[in-house]
Amino acid sequence: MEVTGIIEKIEKQQTASKEELAFLLENISDTELEVLRKKAQQTAIKAFGKSIYIRGLIELSSYCKNDCYYCGIRRSNKNAVRYRLSEEQILDCCKTGYALGFRTFVLQGGEDPYYTDERMCKIVREIKKNYPDCAVTLSLGERGKESFKKLFEAGADRYLLRHETANPEHYKKLHPPEMSYENRIKSLYELKKIGFQTGAGFMVGSPFQTYEDLANDLLFIGELKPQMCGIGPFVPHHDTQFADKPQGSLRLTLTLLSLIRLMNPKILLPATTALGTIAGGGRELGILHGANVVMPNLSPSEHRADYSLYDNKICTGDEAAECIRCLSRRMKSIGYNIVTDRGDYK
Ligand code: SAH
Repeated sequence: MEVTGIIEKIEKQQTASKEELAFLLENISDTELEVLRKKAQQTAIKAFGKSIYIRGLIELSSYCKNDCYYCGIRRSNKNAVRYRLSEEQILDCCKTGYALGFRTFVLQGGEDPYYTDERMCKIVREIKKNYPDCAVTLSLGERGKESFKKLFEAGADRYLLRHETANPEHYKKLHPPEMSYENRIKSLYELKKIGFQTGAGFMVGSPFQTYEDLANDLLFIGELKPQMCGIGPFVPHHDTQFADKPQGSLRLTLTLLSLIRLMNPKILLPATTALGTIAGGGRELGILHGANVVMPNLSPSEHRADYSLYDNKICTGDEAAECIRCLSRRMKSIGYNIVTDRGDYK
């Protein structure tokens, strides 16, 4: 096997075998990565030009009933500061965001039972009523098919639910026994079937992950064909049992972004905050490797630091307006432009 041949195969067929993908991930040289990067960047430019879609992230709750081993807001972290946003606070974030040019609002949070279907549907309906030209994306974990349906009927357009890993054995090493790989995957298929533009995704460098696991993640994306894929490096959180595990590597994350782009030319692919956290200019590098979305934070400043999934998260001290100015400047510095657009999957 040789890496160049595998890259050419992926370019032609949008796929490769698990063995080939794992081999590439383990062996790609800097020169080969640059070849892959250029192809991925060209693919993104062909689909989106040099426009970057923005999504306003509203972190609505730091309460969570789950206990994912990697996550700082897991229920057994007694040091986590818990908050939840009211409907009014959420609508205020949207108001600020709309004025700044956002046309997608992403409501993300821990799995917080306070946000019943009734409360959540009302919030979605209010946002859609006030901002009919905006898309609403939810990222609220596994709620079950009936709940997903109600939220879709209330007007939610998209749903992000990272699969985290496509290997059930690996999934067990990252989650407590009461959480189920099967349910996570089933939820993703349900979301798609209901009609959501659906996002899957995974962390790069999560504890116990192998190159073969990552190859499986790539193949899973090819199979599910989600409209979006969120990937970022694993970053340890000091109050979790993975506190001493190494963070995911920048180079490997960038390689995966390029592979995802080449295998899924039209997928909506964010350069994530976690990527910006592990390296100065990380999000810019993400764009240059094929990403086409950034997700600035619209959460109220006073709560930002408390939505602490991992350590050293960037932008926790900024106002929304500062965030968007900073990102605009960063995108311009590499020849790209942030656009005011819903940025739907085409
Ligand atoms: N409760 C929702 C939202 C989870 S937070 C859900 O279950 O989908 C969004 C994503 O952050 C997670 O899917 C996970 O992939 C990522 N994340 C959590 N902890 C992290 C860490 N320590 N490092 C990097 N990413 C992390």
